[in-house]
Amino acid sequence: MADRLADALARPAAQQPDWPDPQGVRDVVAVLRRAEPIVAPAETARLREELAAVARGEAFLLQGGDCAESFAENTEAHKLANLRTLARMADVLTRRTGLPVVRVARMAGQYAKPRSRPVDAQGLPSYRGDIVNSAEPTAQARTPDPGRMLRAHADAAHATALIRRLGRDGTLGARNVHVSHEALLLDYERSSLWVDDSGPEPRLSSGLGHFLWIGERTRQLDGAHIAFAQLLSNPIGLKIGPGTTPEEAVEYVHRLDPHAEPGRLTLITRMGHTRIRDVLPPIVEKVAAAGHPVIWQCDPMHGNTYTSANGYKTRQFDAIADEIAGFFEVHRRLGTHPGGIHLEVTGDHVTECVGGAPGTAEADLPARYRTACDPRLNADQARELAYTVAAWAAD
Ligand code: PEP
Ligand code: MN
Repeated sequence: MADRLADALARPAAQQPDWPDPQGVRDVVAVLRRAEPIVAPAETARLREELAAVARGEAFLLQGGDCAESFAENTEAHKLANLRTLARMADVLTRRTGLPVVRVARMAGQYAKPRSRPVDAQGLPSYRGDIVNSAEPTAQARTPDPGRMLRAHADAAHATALIRRLGRDGTLGARNVHVSHEALLLDYERSSLWVDDSGPEPRLSSGLGHFLWIGERTRQLDGAHIAFAQLLSNPIGLKIGPGTTPEEAVEYVHRLDPHAEPGRLTLITRMGHTRIRDVLPPIVEKVAAAGHPVIWQCDPMHGNTYTSANGYKTRQFDAIADEIAGFFEVHRRLGTHPGGIHLEVTGDHVTECVGGAPGTAEADLPARYRTACDPRLNADQARELAYTVAAWAAD
């Protein structure tokens, strides 16, 4: 396994920081290697079983949380609000569809962000998430600091401890909530791996999250991220955007799910509401014909981002809902299971996305625009979306 891991990590890796002090990185990784895993292998195994039920069409997958967690917002109040929103959405979906809802939070490790440009408009290194640097626009704050990986790891451990405690207390429907993040920052991701012989081939179990996904910007077929994900025994997600060809989708499925294990791979489609009805069908048909029992999950957020007239990165509630509608239409027509949704959402009363019943307008965005990265649905918008989706899912 050590050879295969070294081979994976030696491949070209997109979106990695330019660490100023490579020895500092090695020191931090050595410390993290000795730390307790944040998630227990038994919890990850349970999620694997729950996801197998989603792949068989017997359950629905609800995944959501912040686009980017931040150290400043790593408060119990913020995490409780996000978990409560996820629980309420799951409740609506279960009651209306009769299907069990598998809940996965974007939490406890969602700290690293891919960026469209390595430098910002002022020529400073881009903010890459709190695990790498600070959003503050100074050269010093933007310099990547490996010590931030220690803080992220400690905060993530606190978050999972909170979820376990809530689960034991029976509050908030937090029982069986699993945690997930984008496996982006490879120096962090390689620091907590345990040999796992329980599956069809020896793999590595990540102790950093139950479910890990590879993002749209790091899914190069010959790159480090895909090779790394192949080695993991955790359930894997893969974001695929509108540029993905059906042939590429099949290649991903062969590589990431070579043993055709139900629920091993979740294909997270993020096509944009104007494209999904055209782009998704040939991908679904080709993957279904290849015989791999993947989960189809709709991310209706990342293909529908735009800049408002007053300069805020935002998303329209109706565009988000329409992408999910298109996702259901396509899967219903092709006879595949519309397995779940993947949202950027918070329980806080932010004003980051426009539309929905409260009528948040572009002019309202500055009032409570708090996200560290992409715009999230707020608690009211999330509730409305849950009822909308539940009606389609119950059809
Ligand atoms: C994200 O989920 O925050 C993200 C960056 O998504 P994508 O990789 O689909 O652009
Ligand atoms: Mn995002």
